[in-house]
Amino acid sequence: MNTNTDFILEHPPINIKNNCSFDKLYNIDSCNVSVIWIIYDKRKKLIINKGLSRPCGFNHRKISIHAEQKAIEYCRSNNSRNYEIYIWRYSKAGDIKHKYSCTACTKLAKKYNYSNRIFTFENGCKCSAIIENPPLSLCYQIKD
Ligand SMILES: [Zn+2]
Repeated sequence: MNTNTDFILEHPPINIKNNCSFDKLYNIDSCNVSVIWIIYDKRKKLIINKGLSRPCGFNHRKISIHAEQKAIEYCRSNNSRNYEIYIWRYSKAGDIKHKYSCTACTKLAKKYNYSNRIFTFENGCKCSAIIENPPLSLCYQIKD
């Protein structure tokens, strides 16, 4: 049983009609670097898919697949215009932290016309995850 009853994972500030828990995607040891992604149907207000992306820093032999990349792949194979992508991180305390797309994911989003469909959360509000000067991805930083 979980003895820490005070701990509540912050829920993303969007209207979600299906019962959706992020408990399984939260890991206190890697929460600062792991990115949670969801596919959200903005018409039905349902979460269609969700997952977790860990950086390649944990395992150098594996190429890490970024959350946006996985989510864009999913959206493209399902081809729904109502799908939006949301990405964020959790702090150790379970609060939602913004995650902006890195340079590589920004390129990918622009290539497939997803720039205005990828969001993150800042101060409890939805905002675009695609920004003017995207941060370099962790992988590139390690290689440099
Ligand atoms: Zn990325």
